[in-house]
Amino acid sequence: MSLAETIPLKLQAGIDSIIDNVIPSPWLTEAEKSDYIVKIKALLKEKNAVLIAHYYVDDELQSLAEQTGGYVSDSLDMANFGAQHSASTLVVAGVRFMGETSKILSPEKTVIMPTLDAECSLDLGCPIDEFSQFCDQYPDREVVVYANTSVEVKARADWIVTSSNAIQIIQHLMAEGKKIVWGPDRHLGQYIKNKTGADMIMWQGNCVVHDEFKLYELEELMAKYPDADVLVHPESPESVIAKADFVGSTKQIIAAGKKSSADTLIIATDHGLFYKMSQEVPNKRLIPAPTGGKSATCKSCAHCPWMAMNTLVNLYEALRDETNTIEVDEVVRQKALLPLERMISFSQQQGILTAGDA
Ligand code: SF4
Repeated sequence: MSLAETIPLKLQAGIDSIIDNVIPSPWLTEAEKSDYIVKIKALLKEKNAVLIAHYYVDDELQSLAEQTGGYVSDSLDMANFGAQHSASTLVVAGVRFMGETSKILSPEKTVIMPTLDAECSLDLGCPIDEFSQFCDQYPDREVVVYANTSVEVKARADWIVTSSNAIQIIQHLMAEGKKIVWGPDRHLGQYIKNKTGADMIMWQGNCVVHDEFKLYELEELMAKYPDADVLVHPESPESVIAKADFVGSTKQIIAAGKKSSADTLIIATDHGLFYKMSQEVPNKRLIPAPTGGKSATCKSCAHCPWMAMNTLVNLYEALRDETNTIEVDEVVRQKALLPLERMISFSQQQGILTAGDA
């Protein structure tokens, strides 16, 4: 068996165990929530900090970012926003690789996260030593990695991509006659390969949230709502992607929802996106794509267990105590910065990442 076949299997047990041990958010009364919100707002001002939240964290954190002049978006936009903001401290509500990406682009700033235990199955499933060995087997190929990876894996890459720009970057590499080693998300990799015909050797990682979307139940839902548009994130299984009216990143799904003439949208991504989606298309019916039939478990609730670890309480405590700071080795950071800047520059030239996005 190749490394690509064996490593993810070994890691899956570890990932399952982490998910099973995720601590649920503390339950707060409305009065307690308001109290935390007031205190966090005061601390953000006092510490010259800005709150940057991912689409998948809880609604109250997304709302707080909006109310305080912060930002809600996908991981790359979050990092870009932080780099361009005048605040000296970036409070990143999301998962660890997002804090690291912010630190890569803003080494002079303090980057704080509500919890450092918020991981990502793609990042966990792609450890640097094994991935590097895997890449070493194909020295004639460009190493292209998804943004959902550790700073060390980014430093090993020639290119970093997001789900917004992956197809264009792979097409650019194909035009240069390049073959690809791809990691870590196998579904996104397969989607890109199908779209471009690129020669890609794949690491076999997956997102534990998107991997759970189910074809059979989706078909049932589509039969019930025949006029609905189906919007799917490309980390989902190939069979689910095949049913989509639109496939794209979180940000692109929101844009597609706005453009759609359908009154009903079936959406296959983390349900955290519904907060923004409801703001953007308040008159449409939004239906989460099914993650299971009658046998659904708490692991298949279309919400990332690590994103859910970000709460008002740990956000307040981290900001108050200035703990949970992201530290990145400077040599590794500089190596990771190269493919990251390459991607940003390419995306800006192609109009994929605009200044207004950041
Ligand atoms: S939703 Fe999936 S890809 Fe996103 S952070 Fe969670 S595990 Fe990672």
